[in-house]
Amino acid sequence: MSRVVVTGGAGFLGSHLCDALVERGDEVVCVDNLSTSDGGNIVHLLKDERFTLVQTDVTNGVPVKGPVEAILHLASPASPPEYLRMPLETLAVGSRGTEACLTLARQTGARFVLASTSEVYGEPLEHPQRESYWGNVNPIGPRSVYDEAKRFAEAITMAYGRYESVDVGIVRIFNTYGPRLRPGDGRVVSNFIVQALSNRPLTVYGEGTQTRSFCYVDDLVRGLLAMADAKELTGPVNLGNPSEVSVLELATVVQEMTQSTSPLSFHESPQDDPTKRRPDISLARASLNWSPAITLRDGLARTIEWFKQQPGVGANVE
Ligand code: UDP
Repeated sequence: MSRVVVTGGAGFLGSHLCDALVERGDEVVCVDNLSTSDGGNIVHLLKDERFTLVQTDVTNGVPVKGPVEAILHLASPASPPEYLRMPLETLAVGSRGTEACLTLARQTGARFVLASTSEVYGEPLEHPQRESYWGNVNPIGPRSVYDEAKRFAEAITMAYGRYESVDVGIVRIFNTYGPRLRPGDGRVVSNFIVQALSNRPLTVYGEGTQTRSFCYVDDLVRGLLAMADAKELTGPVNLGNPSEVSVLELATVVQEMTQSTSPLSFHESPQDDPTKRRPDISLARASLNWSPAITLRDGLARTIEWFKQQPGVGANVE
């Protein structure tokens, strides 16, 4: 049994991770400022004695006392509309917030795992993306508040590993979806499902020929746990599902699986929207013995079922 700090533990991915840690018997300290969550994802955990919520912004430090064996740093706005709504907060949590977590790791001797992102590859000139690829990021474009914050977070993580003897690890997380994505989160999977269930047009940005590789959240959480347990493995390690689809294909599958009559509506492409994205997961397979098991259709079926149960998602709702 370990005591694990999860920053961003009330969010979409973080809350699933907290569930898995508590489930396997770890003690979890969730540190979250609830800026993109109302805490609903973790309500069920609050009554568990192995779970504690510390509501604070890690940008100002991580006020956790006592022994800590691992720190999993997920705190950050993650969907493009949200990091564009909170640009300075996103830069702050990626930089100062990451350093605050690394400082706690140095003090406690905890292993530190950074949740980085496929966004560090930007508009990739290598396909699929391997960890050795340095990326092609516009440092002054609107997405840079997220991309460069995560790139800085990787740099400072490596520096604490090299010069401060912290046991650090980095995972680069590709597009992930599943239950607990907020209906208004703005990511493509939640948008399409909510739109389809509400008989509103599915909003395709650009021509929909851009691709992404979508990983179901349970698979991703298994990868995060494996990385947390893989002492001295620095990575970075890609975590994602290599099966790649275009946004148009995703829209068609969601239309079909929800039996929706919603049409597609085409909208301007966001600036610097990557045209393709697919992880090479050879390293995760070899070093973590990890690969995703849930297909897009299986994962979408579970996600659609969950969204159907959510208040405010349905045919009569505007
Ligand atoms: N997208 C879309 N319609 C939407 C939301 C997103 O066509 O309602 C596109 C977006 O332009 C991008 C892809 O879907 O090409 C994935 O977007 P998302 O925001 O989910 O994640 P990203 O990979 O861009 O961080």
